[in-house]
Amino acid sequence: MGHYQKPPELYAGLRLHQNENTGGCSPRVIEALARLRPDEIGFYPPYAAATDAIAGYLGVPSDRVAMTNGLDEGIMALAVTYLRPRLGGPLLEAIVPEPAFEIFRFDTAVAGGTLIQVMPRRDFSFPLEEVLAAITPRTRVVFLTNPNNPTGVAMPLDAIRAIAAHVPPEAIVFVDEAYAEFAGITFLPDLAAHPRVIVGRTFSKAFGLAGLRIGCLVGAPEVLDPIREAIPVYSVNLAAVVAVQAALSDLDYLRAYLRQVAESKAMLYAVCDRLGLQYWPSRSNFVLVCAGDRADALVNGAFDRGVYIRNRSTEPGCAGCIRIGTGIVEHTRRLVQIMEEVLCGAV
Ligand code: PMP
Repeated sequence: MGHYQKPPELYAGLRLHQNENTGGCSPRVIEALARLRPDEIGFYPPYAAATDAIAGYLGVPSDRVAMTNGLDEGIMALAVTYLRPRLGGPLLEAIVPEPAFEIFRFDTAVAGGTLIQVMPRRDFSFPLEEVLAAITPRTRVVFLTNPNNPTGVAMPLDAIRAIAAHVPPEAIVFVDEAYAEFAGITFLPDLAAHPRVIVGRTFSKAFGLAGLRIGCLVGAPEVLDPIREAIPVYSVNLAAVVAVQAALSDLDYLRAYLRQVAESKAMLYAVCDRLGLQYWPSRSNFVLVCAGDRADALVNGAFDRGVYIRNRSTEPGCAGCIRIGTGIVEHTRRLVQIMEEVLCGAV
C-alpha cells in the first residue's frame, strides 16, 4: 500500500472537502486564546480541567478519557498498541468495513498489522454478518465509524454490541464517533457494559477546532491505559486545552451549527433530486453524492469556481461518488448554484 496522500493544501476557496465546520469556532474560543499569558505559554500544559470538561460533556468519569492531538493521534496510538506484532507471535489483524476513513488502513500498516477489509453492500447498510465472519483468533481491532465517513450512514448500536461479544478477549472494538453530534447517537452509555469498546471523539468537526488539533479516546482503564503509554506526554498543546474548554462552555454555538447542517442537507438533497443524482441520506455534516461519469466535471467545475469538494471514486463501493460538506447554509447555497451551473449549464 502507498503512503497516505494528504489532500492538497487548498485554502484560497471554500473548503467543503474535509468535513470541517466552515463557520469556524465559537467566538468564546478566540477570547480564551487572547487571554493566554506569556507565562502560561511558557509552561507545559495542565490537562485536568480540560479532561474534566470533556468528561462532563460526554457524561463519563474523567479517568475514562484520554485527550489526544486530534483523534488522528488517538487512532495511531491505538493501532500501535493493539496491532504491533509481539516477538515470535502471529501477525495481528484489523477489520475495516469499507468504505472507511482511510487512516485506518494506513495506521494498520504503520503498526505492522494485517488489514482485513470487509466490502460494502450496495446500499451501504452495515454488513454485520460479513464483519462477524471476518473475526479470527488474531483479530485485535475492529474499526467502526458511526455515522460513517464517507457515506454518512449510521450503523445500529446493536451491531456494535454483537461485534463486541464476538471478538477475542484481547481485542478491542473502536467506535469512531467523529460525527456523533450530527447524528445524536453514541455508544458512550454502553461502555460500562462493554469494556472492550473504545469510543473516539473529536472537536474538529461540530466544534470547529480542526486547526488546533484536539480529540479524545474514551474507554475503560484496562483498555485505555496501554494506549496512554503510546501517546506522547504533552502532545495536546495549551491552545487546544484552553480552546476545548471555551468551546464546551458554548453549546448554543454548537446547536446553531447543527441547525445549519440540517438545513444544508435538505438543500443539497433537493438539488440532487432536481438533477437526478443519487445520494445517501446522511447523519453527518457531509453527503455522499453519486455523480457517475459527471463526477470529475463536477469536482473540477467547482474547483474552477473556488469551491473544493472531494472525489471519493477510488474508495471501495464509491465509484462516481463525491463527498460534499454540508454545514453553513450560505456555503451550501453557493455549491448548489455551482452544481446547477456545471451540470445544467444554467447561469
Ligand atoms: N475519524 C474520522 C472518521 C474522521 O473523518 C476524522 C477527520 N477527517 C478523524 C477521525 C480525525 O479527526 P481529527 O481532526 O480529530 O484528527
